[in-house]
Amino acid sequence: MAAKKTPKTKKSAHPAAKSDDLSVKGVPKERVQDTILSVAGENGVSLLKFLGDKKNISEFVIAEKLKLDMQTVRNTLYKLHTHHLVTYIRKKDRQKGWYISYWTFNKDRVADLIDSFQKQNLEKLRERLGKEEQNKGLFFICTKACARLDFDQATDFEFKCPECGTLLQQQENVRTIENLKARIKEIEVDMDV
Ligand SMILES: [Zn+2]
Repeated sequence: MAAKKTPKTKKSAHPAAKSDDLSVKGVPKERVQDTILSVAGENGVSLLKFLGDKKNISEFVIAEKLKLDMQTVRNTLYKLHTHHLVTYIRKKDRQKGWYISYWTFNKDRVADLIDSFQKQNLEKLRERLGKEEQNKGLFFICTKACARLDFDQATDFEFKCPECGTLLQQQENVRTIENLKARIKEIEVDMDV
């Protein structure tokens, strides 16, 4: 009477043994996962978890095991391949006469990819820092938030808010600058390791 129902709840947290498939030498697992996630989303993560250390797995097997349609599998593989996280070979299926691609997780690429993302991130942060430093203390704001003036304008109004007359304050971006510097340093230290 009580037919056993297999629960179909999707669990992102796999048992430890399974998530080991994502392990890459010298890279923290969480980092590997975050990188794949940013490149190819959740499907990318489960796809590479499935591939693990296996070699030359057919695209059809991937689709079947992950219960995904071919279109999704191919899109995900394409995204991963764009970042060289997977390699493939194509073979003609003798019986069916069409080509099938067989995929392998290119684990050697992970560390390089993380490195290049960090470089990009570093560049962006440095650029932002440059802008913040150029504008350091050059703006004056009303504490009641009615106005934000540059130095010349503030001088014209004798450092008083043109709207309400409150004494203007120099806008503080010192903390922002320090923050950016700290983040830059963090990445720099990390990259040297
Ligand atoms: Zn004001």
